[in-house]
Amino acid sequence: MAKIHQLPTKLINQIAAGEVIERPASIIKELIENSIDANSTKITIDVEDGGQKSIQISDNGIGMSASELELAFERHATSKINNQKDLENIHTLGFRGEALPSIASVSQVVARSAAKNNEGTEIVIHGGETKSIEPVAHNNGTYFQVKNIFFNVPARRKFLKKPDTEFKLITETIRKFMIAFPKIAFRFTNNGKVVFRTQSESLENRLQSIYGSEFSNNLLAVNLEKEPYSISGFVGNLTTLRKRPGAQYLIINGRHVKDRLLNSAVFSSYRSLLSRGEYPFFALFIDMPTDLIDVNVHPAKLEVRFQNEWQIYHVIKSATITALKDVLSVIPDFNQFQQQSFNDEASTSQLQFQNQNTNFPIEKAPRPLANLDSHNSADIDLNRAHSRVETMVNTETIQDVNIANNTIWQIHNKYLITEIRSGLVIIDQHVAHERILFESAKKAFDGHGLPSQALLFPQTVQFQPDEYSALLDVIPYLHKIGFKLREFGENTIIIEGTPSDIHWGSEREVLVDIMDNYSQFKELDASFLDHIASTYACKGAVKAGDALSPEERRNLVDRLFATEHPYYCPHGRPIIVNLSMEELDKRFERH
Ligand code: ADP
Ligand code: MG
Repeated sequence: MAKIHQLPTKLINQIAAGEVIERPASIIKELIENSIDANSTKITIDVEDGGQKSIQISDNGIGMSASELELAFERHATSKINNQKDLENIHTLGFRGEALPSIASVSQVVARSAAKNNEGTEIVIHGGETKSIEPVAHNNGTYFQVKNIFFNVPARRKFLKKPDTEFKLITETIRKFMIAFPKIAFRFTNNGKVVFRTQSESLENRLQSIYGSEFSNNLLAVNLEKEPYSISGFVGNLTTLRKRPGAQYLIINGRHVKDRLLNSAVFSSYRSLLSRGEYPFFALFIDMPTDLIDVNVHPAKLEVRFQNEWQIYHVIKSATITALKDVLSVIPDFNQFQQQSFNDEASTSQLQFQNQNTNFPIEKAPRPLANLDSHNSADIDLNRAHSRVETMVNTETIQDVNIANNTIWQIHNKYLITEIRSGLVIIDQHVAHERILFESAKKAFDGHGLPSQALLFPQTVQFQPDEYSALLDVIPYLHKIGFKLREFGENTIIIEGTPSDIHWGSEREVLVDIMDNYSQFKELDASFLDHIASTYACKGAVKAGDALSPEERRNLVDRLFATEHPYYCPHGRPIIVNLSMEELDKRFERH
């Protein structure tokens, strides 16, 4: 082993850069933080080749004098804290004094800054070595150019991804700042093309600038003051659900925070409306005293620690539940579902277990609308229905009636109405059946398929030659949902069997609709399968205007509660409206 010795500053900075600077996006993060800390109201970012070739950022902040600019590139040089007490009360995004020396040690930097108009300084640093420092004319504010990242650290350069990927990461980084600071105007270009350009604006307008004008229709405002916390921002309704995480923004004292517990506070307020793997949009701002949060946990400042995380959890949860009130009000039973944690099937079975002695109401109802019992998951479905209906029944206190023994009325051949103990529920028969069919079709694609029913009078359908060849790709999926199709002469097929669940006469329409969509996109991906399922569901479901026998009504209600999402149809429309006695009494002015 060599003799122990102090490392040279340049090497220390390079080592530190390993923690702070991972890729172009992390340089941009540090530089934007500095611009925000300098009270800028306008920040411009221009990158080339996903930042690998060059990054330029300019701001109109307070700027630096010549001596400050030189010092800024020294390790642990910062204007943001002085002593330990300051460390416990951080109001700025930066405080460690590490970013500039780290960036300069692994790239070629030109920085210009002026604290007074036209009294600027320019400094040039390559790989940590100062090449020049001299006066230049420069307007108030600061400009950084960072070129050839990792030019002197080939091992790290190898870890950079394709410019496209780095560009995406940069865009994500910038979007976060744009959301956290709507009052700051941003402009961002990549290879000369404008990606974002926004003025100083309200949060609502900022979200519109980023996501488009339709988007704000799907946002619900959040506002809660609860000493010492203040929560504001927006949560998305069910239209904003995505299958992957990404658009969940939690901003604490201006800083983006990644925190699983706090994210789950928001997820859990959607209760049973979210399933595993679904993520709603949210942008929530939490303002709280700086001494209740420790931001000095990680060099890149991505993690924070709270003095009382559970307290914040509950505040966030109650703020979001209040905002989601209207969305949640379709769930007939409020309190019981609260026990059921977000996407947690285990708690469902627990509820069921507790209730196993009670008289279960929907057992062995006749199932004229279909016999899905043949496929494996029927038992699971039925179990889910048991626990859903039972939790619903158990919350009622006034009378001893349960939904199964109650009459289910049909009004205008359109809505089903039944009494529950807390009031009544109204179910839209078409969307309820649509939900049932949609979920069973989706399951059928992965499983054994749905039962088919032979047609008494097989039908032939003729297609165009190109449509016909496309049909052959899709046939396996159509078989899965219960169609029995056979080639029958040129470009013609014969329908010998149809899904037993769909309505007499609509089979042809379902087929044509599915084929139209397929010819348009020619892709057998998940969204096409969703389309098959929803076309089948929409066309096959009972319509408004169809009279249902009492058994059919009961069957529909049972099967609805056995679905994953009994409250909303695949397009986000409500299936169930819940009217509580309280609401009715209020309407009749019985106080
Ligand atoms: P930190 O942000 O942790 O203080 P940095 O290395 O990022 O450390 O920056 C060092 C110092 O340089 C800052 O404390 C600030 O005084 C100054 N500085 C950096 N960027 C800017 C800027 N855009 N405008 C004004 N001052 C800046
Ligand atoms: Mg900084």
